[in-house]
Amino acid sequence: MVPVIIHRAGWVAPVTAPLINNGAVAVQGSRILEVGPAAEVVRRRPEGRTLDHGDGVILPGLVNCHVHLEFSALQGRVPPQLRLGDWLVAAVTALFLTPTEDLHAGMVQALGELRAHGTVLLAEWSNTGASLSLLRESGLAFHYFYECLGFHLRGQAPLEEDFPVFAEPPAAAAHFAAAAHAPYSVSPDLFRRVAAWNRAHGRTGAVHLAESREELDFLNTGGGFFRDLLVRLDRWQEDFIPPRCSPAQYLERLGFWEPHTLAVHGIWLDEADRELLARRRVRVVLCPRSNLHTGAGFPDLPALLRAGVPLALGTDSLASNADLNLFGEMLALHERYPHIPGETLLALGALHGAQALGREEEFGSLEPGKTPGLVFAPLGPNAEVWPDLFRCGAAGSVRRLPETHEEG
Ligand SMILES: [Zn+2]
Repeated sequence: MVPVIIHRAGWVAPVTAPLINNGAVAVQGSRILEVGPAAEVVRRRPEGRTLDHGDGVILPGLVNCHVHLEFSALQGRVPPQLRLGDWLVAAVTALFLTPTEDLHAGMVQALGELRAHGTVLLAEWSNTGASLSLLRESGLAFHYFYECLGFHLRGQAPLEEDFPVFAEPPAAAAHFAAAAHAPYSVSPDLFRRVAAWNRAHGRTGAVHLAESREELDFLNTGGGFFRDLLVRLDRWQEDFIPPRCSPAQYLERLGFWEPHTLAVHGIWLDEADRELLARRRVRVVLCPRSNLHTGAGFPDLPALLRAGVPLALGTDSLASNADLNLFGEMLALHERYPHIPGETLLALGALHGAQALGREEEFGSLEPGKTPGLVFAPLGPNAEVWPDLFRCGAAGSVRRLPETHEEG
């Protein structure tokens, strides 16, 4: 019989219910039995052994919906830029100069840091497949988006013809899906092929959307930084007709949006775009610290919340972020928008991320029956819970709570 453990702390943040002062979570193995005021949980679970963690908050493990592990070796090597184009060139140059063994070591280290910062589930975006075996060994739950690029790809052949990975065994897993990189790097035909593969296999698609002003310029005029880049890469198509609309409207015309599609970044959206994404139930994944690093801008969280757009959080890669610690994203949003409730920000990094990846039955909140992983953030006795939780987490001071006595 797996023993029952009662984790008690000054605060419990269930995410789906208000903060509980002097709260407790009873678990059996990784499964939650009960959440509530400590005195009640202890009385109802006489068989449980109580571990008192003291002042601080117990919360569910976090869900990071946007990571590119394959850039992990670039940590600290791509300085912040004022324009996304300059960041992109610096990042690609640094990647080109990095030996394969360093790329591998970077991924191993990044996975360790993700775990240490309270992450339990992540969405990896890869265009090589190099991170797949490491993720399988990592003990973390994950979703794998294989990212398709090809502004030069024409016609409606099955996706597998240009991306054989989609015909191989890993693609049979329910957590494997096709992502289209971005409107400036994917042809209209390729957007349709990616969407068709996901529909045929019952998977959720994804795309980087409205990250930079340059992306808007490109779709409005067919010129600017991204056209120059495509010309340099020999990918430019002379007969490309710029749609003269926003990135969100462009993908609507291409039939790319399905409920639950992930749209990463979503900085340069107007009111009509937000209305469209909310109506289509497209989930915008915010990566605020990455956006500051690349010079892309900063997400308008209040406007997205007002419009009712489903949201989640991601760190993006170590080429555009100091670390893969999702508490840093919550802290950045809290500092920019202090009037937004802390509950809302934690929900973005936990429950909404789990919903984004279709894993909300297991992850994202402290509720009976779930196996979300318990994280503890030690805070002082007079802490102001939300800002101090985000600061504590961002400083790397949280820890995973054990599932057995022995580990404790
Ligand atoms: Zn990305």
